Amino acid sequence: MYNYARMKFYCDTERCIECFGCVIACDEAHELPLGIARRKVVTLNDGIEGKEFSVSVACMHCTDAPCEQVCPVDCFYIREDGIVLHDKDKCIGCGYCLYACPFGAPQFPKDGAFGIRGVMDKCTMCAGGPEPTFSIEEREKYGQNRIAEGKVPMCAATCSTNALLVGDAESVSKIYRERVAARGKGVQTPYGWKEAY
Ligand code: SF4
Ligand code: SF4
Repeated sequence: MYNYARMKFYCDTERCIECFGCVIACDEAHELPLGIARRKVVTLNDGIEGKEFSVSVACMHCTDAPCEQVCPVDCFYIREDGIVLHDKDKCIGCGYCLYACPFGAPQFPKDGAFGIRGVMDKCTMCAGGPEPTFSIEEREKYGQNRIAEGKVPMCAATCSTNALLVGDAESVSKIYRERVAARGKGVQTPYGWKEAY
């Protein structure tokens, strides 16, 4: 039983229009280097009428985060509100987290020498990292800390169709259930729900 908010993402595939606004907003907000994609839009059943859908995917900030469980140097830490963060100063670039993550969230620089992964980067839910909040170090290593500013993560704030929801798991789940009920399509399991919630 959780006594505090448990922050989660949910992408409503019936509203995602594959515009890539969330991806571009994230890249720009955090000044991500080329080759690092904290958020991606994946289209399934491309071209199949009635079956095609797109989903915006980043780190899902899993409740039992597999990345945290496999990291040999303990670089992950989970905040009280459930946001999964990591310490780049501890990361040795082994890539175990990428193998463990069901969403392919961990990103590694692609400009290093062959076989060398470099330090991992991933979605922080716009919550920075272990450096002092709003410090230059935090900004340079992890990007903006919008959560500490009381703002919604950049990707969700930019989504023009409100497909990408973020917030306390209970609130996100309530919005989803209300949308499904309004569509009259019965209960559906949203993408990533079983793995991340
Ligand atoms: S989505 Fe991947 S990187 Fe994020 S908490 Fe889950 S396993 Fe870790
Ligand atoms: S929450 Fe922030 S870091 Fe994560 S995908 Fe959205 S914009 Fe990028």
